[in-house]
Amino acid sequence: MDYEPVIGLEVHAELLTHSKMFCGCAVVMSDGEPPNSHVCPVCLGMPGMLPVINQRAVEMTIMTGLALNCTIEAFNVFARKNYFYPDLPKGYQISQYEFPLCSNGWLEVETSQGAKRIGIRRVHLEEDTGKSTHAGGKSLIDFNRGGVPLMEIVTEPDFRSVEEVQAYATKLRAIVRYLDVNSGDMEKGVIRFEANISIRPAGSTELNTRTEVKNLNSFRALVRATEYELARQQKLAERGERVVQQTMGWDEDRNATVPQRSKEQAHDYRYFPEPDLPPLVIDPAWVESIKASLPELPDAKRDRFVRDYGLSRGDAELLVAEKAVADYYEAAVQQSGAKNPKAIFNWLTGELFRYMNDAGVSIEAIKITPQSLVELIELVEAGTINVNTGKRVLADMFKTGEPAKSIVEAKGLGQISDMGAIEAIVQKVLAANPGEVAKYLGGKETVLGWLVGQVMKESRGKANPGAVQEIVRKQLAARK
Ligand code: ADP
Ligand code: MG
Ligand code: ZN
Repeated sequence: MDYEPVIGLEVHAELLTHSKMFCGCAVVMSDGEPPNSHVCPVCLGMPGMLPVINQRAVEMTIMTGLALNCTIEAFNVFARKNYFYPDLPKGYQISQYEFPLCSNGWLEVETSQGAKRIGIRRVHLEEDTGKSTHAGGKSLIDFNRGGVPLMEIVTEPDFRSVEEVQAYATKLRAIVRYLDVNSGDMEKGVIRFEANISIRPAGSTELNTRTEVKNLNSFRALVRATEYELARQQKLAERGERVVQQTMGWDEDRNATVPQRSKEQAHDYRYFPEPDLPPLVIDPAWVESIKASLPELPDAKRDRFVRDYGLSRGDAELLVAEKAVADYYEAAVQQSGAKNPKAIFNWLTGELFRYMNDAGVSIEAIKITPQSLVELIELVEAGTINVNTGKRVLADMFKTGEPAKSIVEAKGLGQISDMGAIEAIVQKVLAANPGEVAKYLGGKETVLGWLVGQVMKESRGKANPGAVQEIVRKQLAARK
């Protein structure tokens, strides 16, 4: 029997606010500060302390909800989600349950099968827990992270392939980075994925028992855990066994999902309205003003690049995946007076991306400014250097940050367009290869290309290839 995957994603993203969700403590990265240095009675859960809602966190969540085409709900209630865990000193997490801030949205993703809309069930706001580290038989807890604003984005079970899951995760990360509400720094755990996975006979509409794989901290882990879990469930189904609903973890070393606990149900948490916070009522005028100030998002930027710069949809998609890349590209296009947007695309995503990959450097950190990339391209287009020399110059620019012109001058790389000089080289090459010349004169035309190659080599790649071709032909014709 053919099975199809049914997957829903929950994504937790820490918000880039200055202070925590319900107190004035600073939000700090766990690797930057001593443990438990940014805590107070509120986020440590001391009895009698009162939370205060962080307005900026609400605003950032609304921004995200709008970017995901959600309805922003006017009436919000924070709820207590009760459970015990050492990293949760209050014994409950303040979250949203029946009344999330944003609901019923969608995000369109591109896959090899075309565009597909993924339904967004809700986006709500909660607080992060502390961070436990298990070492030497002991568990250490850092409460710096306790109370950091955490946004949860939950999809409908709309994914039918791992490719769709990856496309969504990548795009969602790009969006929160465009909005500047999350750094997207997965190694630091500021954005974490949770995959809900089930399978069903292809074509059926039922929702089968799912498993949930928590705390996936990279795209790679998300993809591999999902693939693994789908294959495991398929094997069970083929043997006529049932999938047990449970919460699982991903064991990177064993390359396998591992059961952690039986799945909790909502009623286990005894959700009830947070008695220390009044309902949060959102003014529609505020939502409108947030909407009006949203930055241009990846899809809109892609469409604009296609329209204004004549790029293909796929090329534009590649550029807008990272805002910094899109900004760099656009700065270069503007610098060049938008004369040749496609050439800039080719140099940027071809050669320059290759150097960046090899060196493991991001576009923010490279030494080549958009302006100097354009200067290089102009030297090539003007015929001062040829394309291959241009690539060598770019490699030098990447290392030193020197402008193209200085490198060309210092190394004497300017293309030889002086006909007299080229003629002399051609003469020399023909004289040195009488056998090949005879073959050509005897009718073997393909030798021409080889002779041109020899002349290019002799000029150390600096001769203008068009001129070389013409002169070689002429001099050969003169020998007929
Ligand atoms: P919980 O909060 O207990 O994790 P929810 O019902 O809110 O459960 O669903 C969480 C996620 O699981 C959502 O993304 C949803 O789309 C997905 N989901 C629900 N049922 C299934 C299913 N049968 N197969 C795959 N994903 C599912
Ligand atoms: Mg869940
Ligand atoms: Zn605090």
